[in-house]
Amino acid sequence: MVANSNETSSHEFNPWLRVSSLIETAGALLGLDEGMIKRIVTPERILEVAVPVRMDAGNVEMYTGWRIQHDTSRGPGKGGIRFHQSVNADEIAALSADMSIKCAVVNIPYGGAKGGVRVDPTALSRAELERLTRRYAFSISPMIGPDRDIPAPDINTDAQVMSWIMDTVSMLHGHNISGVVTGKPLAIGGTLGHAGATSLGVTICTQALLQRLGRASNAQRVIVQGYGKVGAPLVKLLSDRGMKVVGVADVRGAIHVPGGISHLALAKHFAESGTVVGFADSDEVESDEFWTIPSDIAIPAALGGVITDKVAETMSATIMVEAANGPTTGDGAAVLASRNIPVIPDVLANAGGVVASYFEWAQDLQGFMWESELFQQRLEKTMHESFNHVWNRQKELHVNLRDTAIAVGVERIAEATELRGLFP
Ligand code: GLU
Repeated sequence: MVANSNETSSHEFNPWLRVSSLIETAGALLGLDEGMIKRIVTPERILEVAVPVRMDAGNVEMYTGWRIQHDTSRGPGKGGIRFHQSVNADEIAALSADMSIKCAVVNIPYGGAKGGVRVDPTALSRAELERLTRRYAFSISPMIGPDRDIPAPDINTDAQVMSWIMDTVSMLHGHNISGVVTGKPLAIGGTLGHAGATSLGVTICTQALLQRLGRASNAQRVIVQGYGKVGAPLVKLLSDRGMKVVGVADVRGAIHVPGGISHLALAKHFAESGTVVGFADSDEVESDEFWTIPSDIAIPAALGGVITDKVAETMSATIMVEAANGPTTGDGAAVLASRNIPVIPDVLANAGGVVASYFEWAQDLQGFMWESELFQQRLEKTMHESFNHVWNRQKELHVNLRDTAIAVGVERIAEATELRGLFP
Protein backbone atom coordinates (compact mmCIF):
# COMPACT_ATOMS: atom_id res chain seq x y z
CA MET A 1 0.00 0.00 0.00
CA VAL A 2 0.96 3.61 -0.49
CA ALA A 3 1.61 4.13 3.22
CA ASN A 4 4.23 1.41 3.62
CA SER A 5 5.79 1.41 0.17
CA ASN A 6 9.25 1.76 1.65
CA GLU A 7 9.09 -1.90 2.53
CA THR A 8 9.03 -2.94 -1.12
CA SER A 9 12.06 -4.98 -2.13
CA SER A 10 14.42 -3.09 -4.39
CA HIS A 11 14.06 -5.81 -7.05
CA GLU A 12 10.39 -5.07 -7.61
CA PHE A 13 9.32 -2.07 -9.63
CA ASN A 14 7.25 0.13 -7.34
CA PRO A 15 5.57 2.95 -9.28
CA TRP A 16 4.82 4.91 -6.12
CA LEU A 17 8.48 4.99 -5.09
CA ARG A 18 9.41 6.07 -8.63
CA VAL A 19 7.17 9.14 -8.60
CA SER A 20 7.55 10.09 -4.94
CA SER A 21 11.34 10.13 -5.23
CA LEU A 22 11.09 12.24 -8.41
CA ILE A 23 8.97 14.80 -6.54
CA GLU A 24 11.37 14.78 -3.57
CA THR A 25 14.35 15.33 -5.88
CA ALA A 26 12.55 18.20 -7.63
CA GLY A 27 11.59 19.74 -4.28
CA ALA A 28 15.22 19.66 -3.12
CA LEU A 29 16.40 21.11 -6.44
CA LEU A 30 13.94 24.00 -6.01
CA GLY A 31 15.00 24.54 -2.40
CA LEU A 32 11.52 23.81 -1.00
CA ASP A 33 11.34 23.11 2.72
CA GLU A 34 10.68 19.58 3.90
CA GLY A 35 7.15 20.26 5.09
CA MET A 36 6.17 21.55 1.67
CA ILE A 37 7.76 18.57 -0.08
CA LYS A 38 5.85 16.18 2.21
CA ARG A 39 2.59 18.01 1.53
CA ILE A 40 3.14 17.76 -2.21
CA VAL A 41 4.13 14.08 -2.17
CA THR A 42 1.32 12.79 0.05
CA PRO A 43 -1.97 11.90 -1.68
CA GLU A 44 -4.92 13.93 -0.34
CA ARG A 45 -7.66 11.33 -0.51
CA ILE A 46 -7.66 7.56 -1.16
CA LEU A 47 -10.87 5.61 -1.68
CA GLU A 48 -10.91 1.83 -2.09
CA VAL A 49 -14.20 0.25 -3.11
CA ALA A 50 -15.55 -3.26 -3.44
CA VAL A 51 -17.24 -3.77 -6.80
CA PRO A 52 -19.65 -6.72 -6.84
CA VAL A 53 -20.84 -7.62 -10.33
CA ARG A 54 -23.66 -9.97 -11.35
CA MET A 55 -22.19 -12.08 -14.15
CA ASP A 56 -24.20 -13.25 -17.15
CA ALA A 57 -24.23 -16.78 -15.72
CA GLY A 58 -26.07 -15.52 -12.60
CA ASN A 59 -23.17 -15.73 -10.09
CA VAL A 60 -21.58 -12.69 -8.42
CA GLU A 61 -17.88 -11.82 -8.82
CA MET A 62 -16.05 -9.36 -6.58
CA TYR A 63 -13.58 -6.80 -7.91
CA THR A 64 -11.62 -4.03 -6.17
CA GLY A 65 -11.48 -0.43 -7.39
CA TRP A 66 -9.81 2.81 -6.34
CA ARG A 67 -10.10 6.55 -6.88
CA ILE A 68 -7.24 8.62 -5.55
CA GLN A 69 -6.98 12.40 -5.49
CA HIS A 70 -3.34 13.27 -5.17
CA ASP A 71 -3.40 17.07 -5.07
CA THR A 72 -6.17 19.62 -5.63
CA SER A 73 -4.34 22.85 -4.80
CA ARG A 74 -4.53 24.05 -8.43
CA GLY A 75 -8.09 22.89 -9.19
CA PRO A 76 -10.33 19.81 -9.20
CA GLY A 77 -8.71 16.41 -9.50
CA LYS A 78 -8.26 15.16 -13.05
CA GLY A 79 -7.18 11.83 -14.41
CA GLY A 80 -8.22 8.66 -16.14
CA ILE A 81 -9.72 5.38 -15.03
CA ARG A 82 -8.04 2.14 -16.04
CA PHE A 83 -9.39 -1.39 -16.03
CA HIS A 84 -6.53 -3.87 -15.83
CA GLN A 85 -5.72 -7.06 -13.98
CA SER A 86 -2.49 -5.56 -12.58
CA VAL A 87 -4.03 -2.40 -11.07
CA ASN A 88 -3.26 -1.81 -7.38
CA ALA A 89 -3.32 1.10 -4.90
CA ASP A 90 0.37 1.95 -5.36
CA GLU A 91 0.02 2.16 -9.11
CA ILE A 92 -3.10 4.36 -8.93
CA ALA A 93 -1.46 6.62 -6.33
CA ALA A 94 1.61 6.99 -8.55
CA LEU A 95 -0.50 7.75 -11.60
CA SER A 96 -2.54 10.31 -9.64
CA ALA A 97 0.69 12.10 -8.68
CA ASP A 98 1.80 11.98 -12.32
CA MET A 99 -1.47 13.73 -13.18
CA SER A 100 -0.88 16.52 -10.61
CA ILE A 101 2.52 17.17 -12.16
CA LYS A 102 1.26 16.80 -15.74
CA CYS A 103 -1.61 19.30 -15.31
CA ALA A 104 0.83 21.76 -13.72
CA VAL A 105 3.44 21.28 -16.48
CA VAL A 106 0.91 22.27 -19.16
CA ASN A 107 -0.51 24.88 -16.77
CA ILE A 108 -4.18 23.87 -16.84
CA PRO A 109 -6.31 24.53 -13.73
CA TYR A 110 -6.47 21.00 -12.38
CA GLY A 111 -5.03 18.88 -9.66
CA GLY A 112 -4.23 15.21 -10.17
CA ALA A 113 -6.32 12.10 -9.64
CA LYS A 114 -6.57 8.57 -10.99
CA GLY A 115 -8.87 5.60 -10.70
CA GLY A 116 -8.92 1.97 -11.62
CA VAL A 117 -10.47 -1.43 -11.15
CA ARG A 118 -8.41 -4.60 -10.87
CA VAL A 119 -10.12 -6.62 -13.60
CA ASP A 120 -9.31 -8.13 -16.97
CA PRO A 121 -12.04 -6.44 -19.04
CA THR A 122 -11.36 -8.68 -22.04
CA ALA A 123 -12.81 -11.57 -20.01
CA LEU A 124 -16.14 -9.72 -19.50
CA SER A 125 -19.16 -9.52 -21.78
CA ARG A 126 -20.35 -6.04 -22.75
CA ALA A 127 -23.25 -6.30 -20.29
CA GLU A 128 -20.89 -7.36 -17.48
CA LEU A 129 -18.54 -4.47 -18.35
CA GLU A 130 -21.46 -2.03 -18.15
CA ARG A 131 -22.58 -3.37 -14.75
CA LEU A 132 -18.99 -3.22 -13.44
CA THR A 133 -18.57 0.37 -14.69
CA ARG A 134 -21.87 1.58 -13.25
CA ARG A 135 -21.29 -0.02 -9.84
CA TYR A 136 -17.77 1.39 -9.68
CA ALA A 137 -19.05 4.84 -10.77
CA PHE A 138 -21.74 4.70 -8.08
CA SER A 139 -19.17 3.75 -5.43
CA ILE A 140 -16.81 6.61 -6.26
CA SER A 141 -19.65 9.11 -6.93
CA PRO A 142 -19.22 10.97 -3.60
CA MET A 143 -15.74 11.91 -4.77
CA ILE A 144 -16.31 12.90 -8.41
CA GLY A 145 -18.06 15.83 -10.09
CA PRO A 146 -17.27 18.68 -12.51
CA ASP A 147 -15.85 20.84 -9.71
CA ARG A 148 -14.34 18.01 -7.61
CA ASP A 149 -12.69 15.37 -9.73
CA ILE A 150 -13.20 14.57 -13.40
CA PRO A 151 -12.33 11.08 -14.70
CA ALA A 152 -11.39 10.28 -18.31
CA PRO A 153 -10.40 7.22 -20.36
CA ASP A 154 -7.13 5.42 -19.69
CA ILE A 155 -5.97 1.85 -20.37
CA ASN A 156 -8.93 -0.36 -21.43
CA THR A 157 -11.56 2.34 -20.92
CA ASP A 158 -13.13 4.38 -23.72
CA ALA A 159 -15.92 6.78 -24.73
CA GLN A 160 -18.56 4.10 -24.04
CA VAL A 161 -17.30 3.54 -20.50
CA MET A 162 -17.32 7.35 -19.99
CA SER A 163 -20.93 7.45 -21.23
CA TRP A 164 -21.97 4.88 -18.61
CA ILE A 165 -20.20 6.84 -15.85
CA MET A 166 -21.79 10.12 -16.99
CA ASP A 167 -25.21 8.46 -17.08
CA THR A 168 -24.84 6.81 -13.66
CA VAL A 169 -23.81 10.09 -11.99
CA SER A 170 -26.55 12.02 -13.85
CA MET A 171 -29.20 9.50 -12.74
CA LEU A 172 -28.03 9.82 -9.13
CA HIS A 173 -28.46 13.60 -9.25
CA GLY A 174 -31.62 13.65 -11.36
CA HIS A 175 -30.16 15.85 -14.09
CA ASN A 176 -27.48 15.70 -16.79
CA ILE A 177 -23.95 16.31 -15.57
CA SER A 178 -21.91 16.09 -18.75
CA GLY A 179 -18.83 17.74 -17.20
CA VAL A 180 -18.30 14.86 -14.72
CA VAL A 181 -16.13 12.96 -17.21
CA THR A 182 -14.18 13.79 -20.36
CA GLY A 183 -13.45 11.68 -23.41
CA LYS A 184 -17.19 11.28 -24.02
CA PRO A 185 -18.86 10.70 -27.40
CA LEU A 186 -19.81 13.89 -29.28
CA ALA A 187 -23.55 13.23 -28.83
CA ILE A 188 -23.37 13.71 -25.04
CA GLY A 189 -20.93 16.57 -24.63
CA GLY A 190 -17.70 15.19 -26.06
CA THR A 191 -15.51 17.30 -28.27
CA LEU A 192 -14.00 16.96 -31.71
CA GLY A 193 -10.28 16.33 -31.38
CA HIS A 194 -10.22 14.48 -28.04
CA ALA A 195 -9.53 11.12 -29.69
CA GLY A 196 -5.94 11.24 -30.89
CA ALA A 197 -5.01 14.33 -28.83
CA THR A 198 -2.44 12.41 -26.75
CA SER A 199 -0.79 11.14 -29.93
CA LEU A 200 -0.78 14.64 -31.43
CA GLY A 201 0.93 16.00 -28.32
CA VAL A 202 3.54 13.21 -28.47
CA THR A 203 4.19 14.04 -32.12
CA ILE A 204 4.52 17.79 -31.43
CA CYS A 205 7.00 17.15 -28.60
CA THR A 206 9.00 14.68 -30.71
CA GLN A 207 9.31 17.16 -33.57
CA ALA A 208 10.17 20.01 -31.20
CA LEU A 209 12.99 17.95 -29.66
CA LEU A 210 14.32 16.91 -33.07
CA GLN A 211 14.38 20.55 -34.09
CA ARG A 212 16.25 21.57 -30.93
CA LEU A 213 18.79 18.81 -31.54
CA GLY A 214 19.22 19.93 -35.16
CA ARG A 215 17.89 16.64 -36.53
CA ALA A 216 15.43 16.56 -39.46
CA SER A 217 12.19 14.61 -38.89
CA ASN A 218 12.51 13.06 -42.28
CA ALA A 219 13.42 9.39 -42.27
CA GLN A 220 13.92 9.17 -38.51
CA ARG A 221 13.34 5.49 -37.68
CA VAL A 222 10.79 5.09 -34.89
CA ILE A 223 9.62 2.11 -32.86
CA VAL A 224 6.32 2.24 -30.98
CA GLN A 225 5.31 -0.15 -28.19
CA GLY A 226 1.51 -0.28 -28.08
CA TYR A 227 -1.07 -0.09 -30.82
CA GLY A 228 -4.11 1.10 -28.88
CA LYS A 229 -5.75 4.49 -28.30
CA VAL A 230 -2.36 6.24 -28.29
CA GLY A 231 -0.06 3.97 -30.34
CA ALA A 232 -2.28 3.53 -33.40
CA PRO A 233 -2.94 7.24 -34.13
CA LEU A 234 0.71 7.90 -33.31
CA VAL A 235 1.96 5.56 -36.04
CA LYS A 236 -0.16 7.53 -38.52
CA LEU A 237 0.84 10.99 -37.29
CA LEU A 238 4.56 10.19 -37.25
CA SER A 239 4.36 8.68 -40.75
CA ASP A 240 2.42 11.72 -42.03
CA ARG A 241 5.31 13.88 -40.81
CA GLY A 242 7.90 11.90 -42.76
CA MET A 243 9.18 9.63 -40.01
CA LYS A 244 9.66 5.93 -40.71
CA VAL A 245 7.96 3.62 -38.24
CA VAL A 246 10.07 0.44 -38.39
CA GLY A 247 8.75 -1.50 -35.40
CA VAL A 248 5.44 -1.84 -33.56
CA ALA A 249 4.56 -4.08 -30.60
CA ASP A 250 1.26 -4.99 -28.99
CA VAL A 251 0.25 -7.46 -26.26
CA ARG A 252 0.50 -10.40 -28.68
CA GLY A 253 3.97 -9.69 -30.08
CA ALA A 254 6.20 -7.35 -32.05
CA ILE A 255 6.97 -6.74 -35.73
CA HIS A 256 9.93 -5.22 -37.54
CA VAL A 257 9.87 -3.80 -41.06
CA PRO A 258 13.29 -2.23 -41.78
CA GLY A 259 11.99 -0.32 -44.80
CA GLY A 260 9.13 1.27 -42.83
CA ILE A 261 5.53 0.27 -42.11
CA SER A 262 2.60 1.58 -44.14
CA HIS A 263 0.26 2.95 -41.48
CA LEU A 264 -2.79 2.36 -43.66
CA ALA A 265 -1.89 -1.27 -44.33
CA LEU A 266 -1.14 -1.85 -40.63
CA ALA A 267 -4.47 -0.30 -39.58
CA LYS A 268 -6.26 -2.61 -42.05
CA HIS A 269 -4.35 -5.68 -40.84
CA PHE A 270 -5.12 -4.80 -37.21
CA ALA A 271 -8.82 -4.27 -37.94
CA GLU A 272 -8.98 -7.74 -39.51
CA SER A 273 -6.83 -9.70 -37.06
CA GLY A 274 -6.87 -7.74 -33.78
CA THR A 275 -3.05 -7.69 -33.57
CA VAL A 276 -0.04 -6.24 -35.38
CA VAL A 277 1.50 -9.74 -35.46
CA GLY A 278 1.40 -11.37 -38.88
CA PHE A 279 1.59 -8.06 -40.76
CA ALA A 280 2.65 -8.71 -44.37
CA ASP A 281 6.43 -8.73 -44.99
CA SER A 282 7.28 -8.06 -41.38
CA ASP A 283 9.85 -9.95 -39.33
CA GLU A 284 8.49 -11.15 -36.02
CA VAL A 285 10.61 -10.03 -33.08
CA GLU A 286 10.72 -11.51 -29.58
CA SER A 287 9.11 -9.00 -27.23
CA ASP A 288 12.29 -8.71 -25.12
CA GLU A 289 14.27 -7.79 -28.23
CA PHE A 290 11.87 -5.10 -29.35
CA TRP A 291 13.90 -2.19 -27.99
CA THR A 292 17.06 -3.39 -29.73
CA ILE A 293 15.50 -2.95 -33.20
CA PRO A 294 17.79 -0.48 -35.04
CA SER A 295 16.01 2.86 -34.63
CA ASP A 296 16.48 6.55 -33.82
CA ILE A 297 13.44 7.18 -31.60
CA ALA A 298 11.82 4.79 -29.12
CA ILE A 299 8.27 5.43 -27.95
CA PRO A 300 6.72 3.32 -25.18
CA ALA A 301 2.94 3.80 -25.57
CA ALA A 302 1.51 1.01 -23.43
CA LEU A 303 2.03 -0.05 -19.80
CA GLY A 304 4.31 1.31 -17.07
CA GLY A 305 7.65 -0.04 -15.86
CA VAL A 306 8.79 -1.50 -19.19
CA ILE A 307 12.02 0.48 -19.64
CA THR A 308 14.17 -1.24 -17.04
CA ASP A 309 17.94 -0.82 -16.69
CA LYS A 310 18.42 -3.94 -18.84
CA VAL A 311 16.23 -2.54 -21.62
CA ALA A 312 17.88 0.89 -21.35
CA GLU A 313 21.36 -0.66 -21.72
CA THR A 314 20.55 -2.32 -25.03
CA MET A 315 18.14 0.22 -26.50
CA SER A 316 19.20 1.15 -30.01
CA ALA A 317 17.36 4.51 -30.21
CA THR A 318 19.12 7.74 -29.27
CA ILE A 319 15.94 9.58 -28.24
CA MET A 320 13.03 8.32 -26.14
CA VAL A 321 9.58 9.86 -25.90
CA GLU A 322 7.24 8.60 -23.18
CA ALA A 323 3.72 8.29 -24.56
CA ALA A 324 2.79 5.82 -21.80
CA ASN A 325 2.49 6.86 -18.16
CA GLY A 326 5.46 5.86 -16.01
CA PRO A 327 7.11 3.58 -18.60
CA THR A 328 10.63 3.98 -17.17
CA THR A 329 11.89 2.55 -13.88
CA GLY A 330 14.28 4.61 -11.73
CA ASP A 331 17.17 2.32 -12.74
CA GLY A 332 16.15 2.54 -16.38
CA ALA A 333 16.12 6.35 -16.22
CA ALA A 334 19.62 6.33 -14.68
CA VAL A 335 20.99 4.19 -17.50
CA LEU A 336 19.37 6.38 -20.18
CA ALA A 337 20.89 9.44 -18.50
CA SER A 338 24.35 7.83 -18.37
CA ARG A 339 24.04 7.05 -22.08
CA ASN A 340 23.05 10.70 -22.75
CA ILE A 341 19.77 9.65 -24.34
CA PRO A 342 17.38 12.61 -24.17
CA VAL A 343 13.97 11.56 -22.84
CA ILE A 344 10.78 13.60 -23.15
CA PRO A 345 9.02 12.49 -19.97
CA ASP A 346 5.40 11.32 -19.79
CA VAL A 347 4.22 14.38 -17.84
CA LEU A 348 5.06 16.53 -20.87
CA ALA A 349 5.00 14.15 -23.84
CA ASN A 350 1.56 12.62 -23.26
CA ALA A 351 -0.16 15.71 -21.81
CA GLY A 352 -2.10 16.36 -25.05
CA GLY A 353 -4.85 14.03 -23.77
CA VAL A 354 -5.53 15.93 -20.58
CA VAL A 355 -5.27 19.28 -22.38
CA ALA A 356 -8.01 18.01 -24.71
CA SER A 357 -9.99 16.94 -21.64
CA TYR A 358 -9.67 20.46 -20.23
CA PHE A 359 -11.09 21.90 -23.45
CA GLU A 360 -13.96 19.39 -23.40
CA TRP A 361 -14.79 20.19 -19.75
CA ALA A 362 -14.64 23.96 -20.40
CA GLN A 363 -17.09 23.54 -23.29
CA ASP A 364 -19.42 21.39 -21.13
CA LEU A 365 -19.41 23.92 -18.28
CA GLN A 366 -20.21 26.74 -20.67
CA GLY A 367 -22.67 24.73 -22.75
CA PHE A 368 -20.96 26.19 -25.79
CA MET A 369 -19.10 23.94 -28.23
CA TRP A 370 -16.07 25.17 -30.14
CA GLU A 371 -15.25 24.73 -33.80
CA SER A 372 -12.65 22.02 -34.37
CA GLU A 373 -10.11 24.53 -35.76
CA LEU A 374 -10.13 26.47 -32.50
CA PHE A 375 -9.67 23.26 -30.51
CA GLN A 376 -6.76 22.15 -32.67
CA GLN A 377 -5.08 25.54 -32.61
CA ARG A 378 -5.30 25.81 -28.81
CA LEU A 379 -4.06 22.24 -28.29
CA GLU A 380 -1.02 22.78 -30.51
CA LYS A 381 -0.27 26.13 -28.86
CA THR A 382 -0.44 24.65 -25.36
CA MET A 383 1.88 21.76 -26.26
CA HIS A 384 4.42 24.01 -28.01
CA GLU A 385 4.46 26.50 -25.15
CA SER A 386 4.81 23.74 -22.56
CA PHE A 387 7.69 22.13 -24.42
CA ASN A 388 9.44 25.48 -24.83
CA HIS A 389 8.97 26.33 -21.18
CA VAL A 390 10.51 23.02 -20.02
CA TRP A 391 13.32 23.34 -22.55
CA ASN A 392 14.21 26.87 -21.41
CA ARG A 393 13.88 25.99 -17.73
CA GLN A 394 16.30 23.11 -18.29
CA LYS A 395 19.00 25.64 -19.11
CA GLU A 396 18.46 27.32 -15.73
CA LEU A 397 18.18 24.16 -13.65
CA HIS A 398 20.98 22.17 -15.36
CA VAL A 399 19.24 18.81 -14.99
CA ASN A 400 17.74 16.49 -17.61
CA LEU A 401 14.34 17.01 -19.24
CA ARG A 402 12.56 14.63 -16.85
CA ASP A 403 13.83 16.31 -13.70
CA THR A 404 13.16 19.73 -15.26
CA ALA A 405 9.55 18.86 -16.16
CA ILE A 406 8.88 17.47 -12.68
CA ALA A 407 10.44 20.62 -11.18
CA VAL A 408 8.22 22.85 -13.35
CA GLY A 409 5.16 20.96 -12.11
CA VAL A 410 6.28 20.90 -8.49
CA GLU A 411 7.06 24.63 -8.41
CA ARG A 412 3.59 25.50 -9.71
CA ILE A 413 1.94 23.17 -7.17
CA ALA A 414 4.11 24.63 -4.40
CA GLU A 415 3.13 28.16 -5.38
CA ALA A 416 -0.60 27.31 -5.21
CA THR A 417 -0.15 25.43 -1.93
CA GLU A 418 1.78 28.33 -0.39
CA LEU A 419 -0.77 30.94 -1.55
CA ARG A 420 -3.68 28.98 -0.14
CA GLY A 421 -1.99 28.41 3.21
CA LEU A 422 -2.73 25.56 5.57
CA PHE A 423 -6.26 24.88 6.82
CA PRO A 424 -7.22 25.23 9.66
N1 GLU B 1 -5.54 9.09 -19.14
C1 GLU B 1 -4.94 10.24 -19.72
C2 GLU B 1 -3.64 10.57 -19.04
O1 GLU B 1 -3.06 9.73 -18.39
C3 GLU B 1 -5.90 11.42 -19.76
C4 GLU B 1 -6.36 11.90 -18.44
C5 GLU B 1 -7.46 12.94 -18.53
O2 GLU B 1 -7.77 13.41 -19.61
O3 GLU B 1 -8.01 13.27 -17.49
O4 GLU B 1 -3.11 11.64 -19.19
